[in-house]
Amino acid sequence: MADLEYEGFWNETLIQLKNILGEEVFSGWFSETKYLRESGKNITIGLPSAFHCDKVKSCYLNTIISIFKQISGEEIALELEIIKEDEKKAAHSISEALLSPVKNELIKNTAANVEKKQKNKKEAHSQMRDDYTFSRYVIGENNKFASNAAIAISENPGKAYNPFLIYGGVGLGKTHLMQAVGNYIHNNSDKDVIYNTSEEFLNKYLDALGTNTMKSFKNKYRYTDVLLIDDIQFFTDKPGVQEELFHTFNALLDAKKQLVFTCDRPITELKKFPERLISRFGLGLMVDIQPPRYEERCAILKATAEDENVSIPKEVIDLISNNISSNIRDLKAALNTLIAYTKLMGKSITLEIAQQHLKNNFNSTRNANLSMDNVIRVSAEYFGLTPNDLKGKKRSQNIVNARQIAMYIGRKMTDYSMTEIGQDFGGRDHTTVMHSIKKIEEKLYNDPSLETTINNINRSIKEFSAKY
Ligand code: ADP
Ligand code: MG
Repeated sequence: MADLEYEGFWNETLIQLKNILGEEVFSGWFSETKYLRESGKNITIGLPSAFHCDKVKSCYLNTIISIFKQISGEEIALELEIIKEDEKKAAHSISEALLSPVKNELIKNTAANVEKKQKNKKEAHSQMRDDYTFSRYVIGENNKFASNAAIAISENPGKAYNPFLIYGGVGLGKTHLMQAVGNYIHNNSDKDVIYNTSEEFLNKYLDALGTNTMKSFKNKYRYTDVLLIDDIQFFTDKPGVQEELFHTFNALLDAKKQLVFTCDRPITELKKFPERLISRFGLGLMVDIQPPRYEERCAILKATAEDENVSIPKEVIDLISNNISSNIRDLKAALNTLIAYTKLMGKSITLEIAQQHLKNNFNSTRNANLSMDNVIRVSAEYFGLTPNDLKGKKRSQNIVNARQIAMYIGRKMTDYSMTEIGQDFGGRDHTTVMHSIKKIEEKLYNDPSLETTINNINRSIKEFSAKY
C-alpha cells in the first residue's frame, strides 16, 4: 500500500473502532491520534501522551490489530509514539471529522460492509438469523447502554462483561441484539457459538437425560466459547434444568468463556429461581432495553425502509410511530405489511393507503387504549360466564380457568401492570395475576390447542373494542 492509502486505512480503522467502543470511550483515547508513517507491515500512530500510549497498548491493541486484519486481510502491526506539540493541531481535525454526525452514515455502511465481507467467507450460523446484526440494529437512547456493552463483548468475548444479561419487555430487540453478538463473533473469529432459546436448551437437556447422553450434552455446552440463551424466564420453577444451567454457567465462567442471556424482566423478579443462580448474574452486567421513544421509532422505520429499498413519506412514518408505541416487532410488521401491499399493487406508499391499510395493525398491537373491562367482558362471554364471575371469589374449575386465561390475555394485550390487572379482577394481589399467567404459560406448553382459544378471544376483544 502507498503511504496515503495507509492513512486512509488508519482512518477507516478509527471509524470501526469508534463504532465498537462507543463515542465516549473512543473520544477519550483516540480523539487526538495522528497517522505518522508506515514501514513494511507496520503502522506508526501518534498519541498525545505516554499515558495514552500505555492505555491503548494495554486495552485496545488487540482490537485494533483485529480490525486491521478484518479490513486488509493481513497481519499488520501497530507502533505507538507520543506526538510532538506542533503535530497535535493536525491530529485534532481528523478526530473532529470522525465525531461529526455526517460520518454516522459512513460508520454504519462500513460496519455493514465488514459484516457482508465476512459473511461471504463463512457460512451463516445455523441457529441464528443472519440478518440479526449490528448494522441492522438502530441504536437510540432506549438501548444505548445495552448496545455498547454488546459491541464491547463482541470484540472481547469472555473479557468485557461476563455474564451479560439483557432484559426488557416483549419485542424490544433482546433477541436481535443477542444474536448480533453471536453473529459478530461467529463471523469474525473461530470461536464456537451456541445459541439456544431456553426451551431448546431444556429439550436438549431432557433428551440427553432420556437417552443417557448427558456426557456429550455436558461436553457440548461446557466447552463452547460463547453460550447465548434466550428468554431464561422460561426456566422458572424448573429445578432440574436450573441445576444443569448452574453447572454450565460455572464451567464457562471459570474458563472465561462468554455467557449472554436475555430475560423478560429483571433477574431479581424471577420467582422460584435459586438464589445461587441469581447471584451468579451479579458477577457480570445486567442492562435493560426500554421501549423506543417516538424518535427511535421513526429511526427504526426509516432504517427498515432503507433496508427494503423503498421510500416512505415522512407523514407515513409519523402515522405508524404515533400508533404503535410499545413494541418494535409490531412497528416493523406494520411497515412490512404496507411495503408488501404496495409492491404487490404496484403503487407507491401514501398516507391514505397507509391509513386504510394499517387499521388492523393499529388495533392489533398491545394497546394502552384497550380497557381491562373489555378484556374481562369478552373473555367471560366466550366461556359463557359473566364479568362478575371472573371478578368474584368463586373457585369452581371452569371459572378459575377462565379467570386465569383472562388475566393472561390482559397482561399480553394491554400495557396494564400486574398490580392494575389484579385490581380490575376484584382487587386481587399482583402475585395472583403472576401465578395465573404462569399457569397459562404451562398449559400452553402442554396443550397447543389452548393457543387457538386465546387467539380467538384476542380477536373478539379487538373487534369488540373497535366497535365500542
Ligand atoms: P425481543 O427478543 O425483545 O422480544 P426481538 O429481538 O425479537 O425482540 O425484536 C423484535 C423485532 O424488532 C425484530 O424484527 C427485530 O429485528 C426488531 N428490532 C428490535 N429492536 C430493533 C432496533 N433497535 N433496530 C432495528 N430493529 C429492531
Ligand atoms: Mg426474544
